[in-house]
Amino acid sequence: MSESNAVTDADVVLVGAGIMSTTLAVFLKELQPHLKLEIIERLPGEAQESSGAWNNAGTGHAANCELNYTPQRADGSIDIAKALEVNVEFDMSRQFWSYLVKKGAISPDNFIHPVPHMSFVIGTDRQAFLKKRHAAMSAHHCYRGMEYSEDHKKIAEWAPLLMEGRDPNQPVAATRIVSGADVNYGALTSDLLTYLKRLDGFAVHFSQNVTGLKRRPGGGWRLKVRSGLLGSRTINAKYVFLGAGGGALPLLQKSGIPEAKGFAGFPVSGIWLRCGKHEVVERHSAKVYGMAAQGSPPMSVPHLDTRIIDGKRWLLFGPYAGFSTKFLKHGSLFDLPMSVRPDNLLPLLAVGRDNFPLEEYLVGQVLQSNNHRFKALRDFYPTMNKSDWEFDVAGQRVQIIRKDQAHTGKLEFGTEIVHSADSSIVALLGASPGASTAVWIMVHMLENCFHEQLVGHWVPKLKEMIPSYGHDLKTDAALTERVRQETAEVLGLHTV
Ligand SMILES: Cc1cc2nc3c(=O)[nH]c(=O)nc-3n(C[C@H](O)[C@H](O)[C@H](O)COP(=O)(O)OP(=O)(O)OC[C@H]3O[C@@H](n4cnc5c(N)ncnc54)[C@H](O)[C@@H]3O)c2cc1C
Repeated sequence: MSESNAVTDADVVLVGAGIMSTTLAVFLKELQPHLKLEIIERLPGEAQESSGAWNNAGTGHAANCELNYTPQRADGSIDIAKALEVNVEFDMSRQFWSYLVKKGAISPDNFIHPVPHMSFVIGTDRQAFLKKRHAAMSAHHCYRGMEYSEDHKKIAEWAPLLMEGRDPNQPVAATRIVSGADVNYGALTSDLLTYLKRLDGFAVHFSQNVTGLKRRPGGGWRLKVRSGLLGSRTINAKYVFLGAGGGALPLLQKSGIPEAKGFAGFPVSGIWLRCGKHEVVERHSAKVYGMAAQGSPPMSVPHLDTRIIDGKRWLLFGPYAGFSTKFLKHGSLFDLPMSVRPDNLLPLLAVGRDNFPLEEYLVGQVLQSNNHRFKALRDFYPTMNKSDWEFDVAGQRVQIIRKDQAHTGKLEFGTEIVHSADSSIVALLGASPGASTAVWIMVHMLENCFHEQLVGHWVPKLKEMIPSYGHDLKTDAALTERVRQETAEVLGLHTV
């Protein structure tokens, strides 16, 4: 039968074939194997938007090196609470991936590699900040083994490219933790999908665009799916998950659920520099995060990263932020204007009014010449050679704008799970900390939206997949140690 006008049924339809939908699909199939699941993807393959290896930085975000997670309080002390949250969220990913490796579903060599995480700062004020940050973090069991140095020679041992050609009198400081990871989220998405395809009751459809969704009178949702210019079909689903990245907001708006009201999106694009020259790449083995410029969004902190993609080592530098009205890298320039509704116009305008430093920063980034971009790289790697580097376009992030009583509208940099009152439709908005915490996001979503099933049936299986589930790693040093030892062994990571 031609797919045109066909009507099919599914228990759960997941829109988008990125890391979020594939992670959730694996969770659901492990928890309830008989479920009939379909993933619908508008592009011809999986992980071609933010989850693709070159569209994100591949950092296994454990808040080891990202300075935006450890703000300085007014009294000068360092607040590590947010860093600790992100740190133990990544432990959930490590455990879930280890569970899948042990059952032969995915292979660690394809997607995860040990790469030390470093922070690097220049100037005496920043030295003082990093020193205090190190003292606060290394005193906690979650950051045991984090090293600190202001010594040029020591830092050169950790990352020679950072120090060669640098003024020996320049005040610098760095921290390093050797248990960090580089993760190819695109390869992981593909591995998860390959595993899912082996299971009964699962199907993925590429080059099919979900263009509409409506509540069904008896419960559940009716999705309109288009393929090519003429093909269209309908899927009736009990549950819908909008794991559509930047495409989630427009679909959420189409659902008409009251919970979607007031949300808007603020797109931030990005550009990288990358280098594949063997002699350079072999001399750097770290993800080195610097400090954000004034007014910059937290995810635009420059970093010089080792990447391992399809067995080859690379260096990646950036991202340089920019502005485009597209919500997806392969999206339309009309995405932003088409998302404006009477209910989100005020929040959008308020964010425009209240975030002048951010706008100024983005305009500055867009107007930056390539020479300026190379200068930013030279701050990290003084002897870099321009001809070793090429530019590449990163994925698109859509930051959340939401209604806020005090300011009318507020820009947020986290991830938001928005769902209908009956949890029959769930959408994921926002982008940070991102793919690293996909597992925590899904567990959090199951706890919130499927509490009854979770408590009634799923907890034992969840504990099999994530042995620390139900315990707080932030307060349980012995369990943290055990979980990290075990997952490091399975995933081939280093322990401190
Ligand atoms: C520059 C940059 C750097 C980043 N660095 C990191 C990092 O170092 N570490 C980290 O953990 N995270 C990072 N992230 C975040 C991370 O990439 C994202 O959080 C994650 O990939 C989001 O996954 P997703 O599955 O929700 O979205 P995506 O991977 O974007 O997938 C969404 C899919 O939905 C499809 N889709 C959209 N609309 C429709 C529709 N109507 N019908 C059918 N299909 C549709 C899209 O084509 C796409 O394939 C970064 C992101 C960016 C942009």
